[in-house]
Amino acid sequence: MLHERGIGARVYEAAPEIKPIGVGISLLPHASKELGLLGLTDALSDVAVTTRESCFFNRFGQFVYSEPVGRHAAGAPVAYLDRVADGAGRVLPGHRCTGVDSDARGAVAHFVDSSTGRALPPARGAAVIGCDGIHSVVRQQFFPDEGPPVYSGVNMWRGTTVWEPFLSGSTYLRAGWLTVGKMVIYPIRHNVDGQGRQLVNWVAEVQTDSYSEQDWNRTGRLEDFYGIFAAWTFDWLDVAGLIRGAEQILEYPMVDRDPLPRWTHGRVTLLGDAAHPMYPRGSNGAGQAILDARALADCLQSMESFPAALQAYESQRLAATAAVVHASRSAPPDVILKAVHERTGDRPFEQITDVITPPRWPSCPTATSASPDMTASRWPAVGISSVGRGVVG
Ligand SMILES: Cc1cc2nc3c(=O)[nH]c(=O)nc-3n(C[C@H](O)[C@H](O)[C@H](O)COP(=O)(O)OP(=O)(O)OC[C@H]3O[C@@H](n4cnc5c(N)ncnc54)[C@H](O)[C@@H]3O)c2cc1C
Repeated sequence: MLHERGIGARVYEAAPEIKPIGVGISLLPHASKELGLLGLTDALSDVAVTTRESCFFNRFGQFVYSEPVGRHAAGAPVAYLDRVADGAGRVLPGHRCTGVDSDARGAVAHFVDSSTGRALPPARGAAVIGCDGIHSVVRQQFFPDEGPPVYSGVNMWRGTTVWEPFLSGSTYLRAGWLTVGKMVIYPIRHNVDGQGRQLVNWVAEVQTDSYSEQDWNRTGRLEDFYGIFAAWTFDWLDVAGLIRGAEQILEYPMVDRDPLPRWTHGRVTLLGDAAHPMYPRGSNGAGQAILDARALADCLQSMESFPAALQAYESQRLAATAAVVHASRSAPPDVILKAVHERTGDRPFEQITDVITPPRWPSCPTATSASPDMTASRWPAVGISSVGRGVVG
């Protein structure tokens, strides 16, 4: 977004190499729209599946509820990174940020080499954006007493499996409930084997008392959670087989942090999970990071003073994202599964209308439903003017 507005930026990344971690995410329409505005719709459609509906089942495979969703795109935003790398040539891996300084004329980020720990030359720019994730060192510098992320009581295991299309072939599926085992399952790539099978992303969520503080890349063990889902062999999807078929499993505790009172300190601010990590139950963390980027780029483009632009960005986004953090804790979309779990006493039901009664009952999607593809952008192009100022992210 900075590049499109002619604002020079460099991205310093701790990972020594940029590569997929092997799982996917769902981008809600407010986020995929922003990528569309950057002209990335076609590139995104090459690496994503457009979700057709969001579907809920109990842990016995009984259909609870379904609703159509917008032109959701599920998949890792690899195309976005390629575009940044091509367009700006400014992604520098192997740089672990250790701290930042800010003065009246600019801001400085300090780095060590991620592999050797040796000090690297600092980078100076008009501003530094701390977008270094949930364990942000930039956030920690400004809030040293904050402590570790807050554990939700739910542990997650995630993976991807090459599998036959299920339901409509573009269904975002949630099933079960956290206390007895919940699954989130959705395809992230069509026809990965030339025979029509998809790459299917899944997350097992289980209420667990203890957890280990870890990063994304901790390898999970099948035996730690598989027993909970071993009987999930429904005629419309063999969930147990799907789990067993994963090449790799990652384990991660569901954590977030309380919203901060401020993000901006002089010419330094926070963005994405560094600013507002949230539970992934609403599929919104990366989407909110994308909205942050849009707001920040707009403020930097329209305002002369960098500190004022960073303050304006914070004013636009801090309260809005705090509301999403709270909503992800208290009222995420899966509350319908909690209601069904509690009202049935965790037993199969005769008819869902005995349990909950919406005004008009939707039908269960089937494999015969057509799945739309993401085609050309439906969003207008934006005019870009060059202001030529530098930002370090
Ligand atoms: C199981 C799970 C499922 C999720 N599903 C969804 C979903 O469906 N939809 C959605 O929108 N969101 C989802 N999320 C949330 C989403 O992944 C995050 O909100 C998003 O990745 C945040 O992006 P970010 O760039 O702010 O942080 P990150 O993705 O964490 O990126 C931070 C980057 O900073 C680098 N870094 C860290 N420290 C340093 C340092 N000191 N110096 C330099 N670089 C550093 C890291 O290597 C990393 O590349 C999910 C999260 C989880 C755990």
